[in-house]
Amino acid sequence: MFQSDLLKGKRILVTGGGTGLGRSMAQRYLELGANVVICGRREEVLKQTAQELTAESGGAIETVGCDVRIPDAVEAMMDTVWAGGPLDILVNNAAGQILAQTHRLSTRAIDSVLGIVLHGSAYCTVAAGRRWIEQGLRDRVVLSILTVSSLTGAPFTVPSAMAKAGVLAMTRSLAVEWGPKGIRTCAIVPGPFPTEGAWSRLMPKERGGNEALVRTIPLRRVGEHDELANLAAYLVSDGAGFVNGEAVVIDGGKMLQSGGGGASTQSMIDWTDEQWDAIRPKRK
Ligand code: NAP
Repeated sequence: MFQSDLLKGKRILVTGGGTGLGRSMAQRYLELGANVVICGRREEVLKQTAQELTAESGGAIETVGCDVRIPDAVEAMMDTVWAGGPLDILVNNAAGQILAQTHRLSTRAIDSVLGIVLHGSAYCTVAAGRRWIEQGLRDRVVLSILTVSSLTGAPFTVPSAMAKAGVLAMTRSLAVEWGPKGIRTCAIVPGPFPTEGAWSRLMPKERGGNEALVRTIPLRRVGEHDELANLAAYLVSDGAGFVNGEAVVIDGGKMLQSGGGGASTQSMIDWTDEQWDAIRPKRK
């Protein structure tokens, strides 16, 4: 789909790049010639991923242990990243998520999700942006991975929806503030992409599994990691140089299906022609 040197020479940091979608994006970036750094709290997971990705793609990948909730840890990570060369692209992907009734959440649980997603994305973005601006480095990109709930809200995952909406506001605000300095800010809004992390936290069997889920998606399937990784490659590439402040939804149409006519209209999507014939007035 892309030229194999699309991202040659680009130094890219993917937060939470040891697992799930972060890992898939890191893999695609490596395949396209980038020099990739992944961070997360569990260093053994990062090392294992780095080994596997290097074996598969032969690309250069570095790991840095970092809890993005801690400002000093983020600064130390950026110093480590910069020691290997200035960063070109930051991908804010690290996240935490809790499925729960909001009135029963502890303040600790709320702080944890806001800490990783809202504060962590802000700390990483500011730490990279400050270095870029002070060093006069242009043609830089911040790509943040959001959720559909950042646009619509979502019951039972309220801290995440709040935090991701904040990251969307950051993306749109900085597009204007940092655009003149040659820094683009963009976002991806993914629908359901199976990952061990998201599925273990958000898809208890009581929700009806993938079968119930795909009925809520017009394309009648979940997303494939390659599809998201391709979008993530395009948005950070020089070819997307005029895309700024945009949040691109990649969800098979799921967000649109739940709008408009509501639940009763949704059930009509699976009606047979006979069911439709039964409600249409007969022409005389
Ligand atoms: P995942 O595999 O659980 O990835 C989350 C990553 O974040 C992990 O590698 C984790 O590593 C890291 N992380 C968590 N807390 C951190 C912290 N305090 N500091 C640094 N790293 C931290 O989940 P995923 O499904 O791939 O999600 C990736 C992104 O896509 C998230 O932003 C998520 O909101 C978004 N998304 C996913 C879906 C989906 O269907 N999968 C849908 C919409 C949006 P450690 O635990 O080692 O720190």
